[in-house]
Amino acid sequence: MTGQQRRLSVNRLASAEVEHLPMRPLWRCRRCGQPWPCGAAKLALLAEYREVPVSLFLYLGGCLHDAIDDLHRLNPSVTGSVADMFDRFLGWPARHTHAYRVGTTTAVSIEEATS
Ligand SMILES: [Zn+2]
Repeated sequence: MTGQQRRLSVNRLASAEVEHLPMRPLWRCRRCGQPWPCGAAKLALLAEYREVPVSLFLYLGGCLHDAIDDLHRLNPSVTGSVADMFDRFLGWPARHTHAYRVGTTTAVSIEEATS
């Protein structure tokens, strides 16, 4: 095996182990390069938070906040649509989570209790 072949196989191995996580500050998927959360990330998040959808919304709400800061810092003249950003981070799980209304109410209650 040549050095170049070894590097290629190591890169292939490394990319196979990379999960579909956000790459900040671009907020693109580390693995597939799509805007995060990509389709695979959404599936993984839905599976991970299946029993605690409230936590999924809290996590994604934090991600949305960070993404707005990061993307605005990168290019303030192209902030994009607020509606698109909201849907990208918080709109899609509402369409896939049964307990959205319960989760929203609970999230508000937690927010009120801690403020
Ligand atoms: Zn991905």
